[in-house]
Amino acid sequence: MSTAAQDTGQISDGYHTFDELYRYRMLYHAWAVKAWQQAGWPVMKSHRHHDGQLCFGGGWFIVTAQLPSGQVSNHYRDLYWHLFDCPAVDCAPEWDGHTPQQAADRIEKTLRNPTQKLWKGQTVLCTWPGCGKSLVLSDQWLVDVLNELAPGIMFVVGNPPATSWICVSGKGFYCPKHWHLDPDDEHWELGPREES
Ligand SMILES: [Zn+2]
Repeated sequence: MSTAAQDTGQISDGYHTFDELYRYRMLYHAWAVKAWQQAGWPVMKSHRHHDGQLCFGGGWFIVTAQLPSGQVSNHYRDLYWHLFDCPAVDCAPEWDGHTPQQAADRIEKTLRNPTQKLWKGQTVLCTWPGCGKSLVLSDQWLVDVLNELAPGIMFVVGNPPATSWICVSGKGFYCPKHWHLDPDDEHWELGPREES
């Protein structure tokens, strides 16, 4: 560590030094990682970034979480590796470009609304009994839309309609075979039903 970095670490606002605040951030984060995984949101740690390069040239690792509100990540020195109780991976997920400000906003958003249960990269199953087809939610904008739907509202996922799924908020997802875009003689309502 350079002399300048040591000096910065000892700078205090009268209550805490930078070193203390960074340590607090790391410790609270390590606890948060436990709760996030219990909520079902993926967290992983890696010594390497997505491109295979060692974080900051080595001696550091990155912790990446996929919250319902989006990706958040932080770097820490290797001596704290074992405090983060999450899967270790060869390379971290690709950074989505989030800034520290955006990461903080995402953490607050999920904290304010923890009932949002969908997240980017999640695999969901068709709700129809015995179907078993699965769909990966690959877009953050889509996840954001689905998490905001009022109960009972239907949302078509993907294009064209022939291969689209629907999400019925509060009920789940239905594959193309198990929902209908148009009512017919036997079915007056749009929504989930087995193809005749
Ligand atoms: Zn199905």
